[in-house]
Amino acid sequence: MGKKDDFFLNKFPKYYEIKKYLKKMEKKYPRNVRLEDIGCSVEGRPIRMIVIQEDQRSPKQAVMIEAGIHAREWLTHTTVLYIIQHIVKHQRILRHMDFYIIPCLNPDGYEYSHKHNRLWRKNMNKNGFKDKTHWGVDLNRNFSYGYGLDNGSSSDPQSLVYRGPYCLSEPEAQSLASALYVYGKYIKLYIAIHCYGNTIMYPWGFTEKPIPDEKDLYDCAVKAQRAMKCAYSKSCFTVGCMSKTVYLSSGATADYARGAYNIKFSYTMELHKAGKSGFTPRPSMIVNVAKETLVGVLEMVKYVDRYYKCNTKTYARSRIKLRDRRYE
Ligand SMILES: [Zn+2]
Repeated sequence: MGKKDDFFLNKFPKYYEIKKYLKKMEKKYPRNVRLEDIGCSVEGRPIRMIVIQEDQRSPKQAVMIEAGIHAREWLTHTTVLYIIQHIVKHQRILRHMDFYIIPCLNPDGYEYSHKHNRLWRKNMNKNGFKDKTHWGVDLNRNFSYGYGLDNGSSSDPQSLVYRGPYCLSEPEAQSLASALYVYGKYIKLYIAIHCYGNTIMYPWGFTEKPIPDEKDLYDCAVKAQRAMKCAYSKSCFTVGCMSKTVYLSSGATADYARGAYNIKFSYTMELHKAGKSGFTPRPSMIVNVAKETLVGVLEMVKYVDRYYKCNTKTYARSRIKLRDRRYE
């Protein structure tokens, strides 16, 4: 891997640079990498997903990682590019799981945050208004599971958490929904990456009602939390249910992955707060945040892989028992 492939560790890339980088990975690792356009943004930019597999002919259970749904969260883009780079370079983890990664779900907003307003969060739907203050839908409130609650989203276009006129109204949200529709059957672990907050959170976001298998979701997240702490002593993440750890959020992706696709291990990870202002970190923060997150993500992948391998064995054993009984 040449030095140029590391460019995003020294500066925050523009969207065209992210696309170029993904293309390069596909060219360099044709056996393991393929790109897929899962849809288009409001302004017509392609939304690209990178699929990384040990063997493209036989898909395995997989992890889906989504970043950049909120435009200003630039560390999420660089962090997943780093994760991609690590996976293609050290392919051992691919023996366990395939990876479906969307490094920038909100390309219009991302461009806007580079060119005009560093703190832009939503997409670039004008919502029928001339006035900028009414622009944008919070894509992470536009999904159909638990959609539309006033406690956790807003019907006001001026709000930072405007949920859009109806669920999945936004093309960017539709893109992710269609990727899940096609590949959901393989996905065993879903991670929505945001920044900042030092948290690993599981559903639900739209209600404080606990999820029945909370313990499994908690255990997996704690493994990641501890691995990160072990690798980087300053690492300090909180684990918990989304609605109680931060705030209620209605129509978010992690709830959707769990609620609509029954992906048991579904998380929202808020990255390490880098610097005084969490939303405008210096480029020098990119490497540390990326490295720390990678440790956590890989730990979760291993946990989920083990979880399903063990459970499949138990399942296979119970079937043998049943069959034996029939012969008694
Ligand atoms: Zn966010």
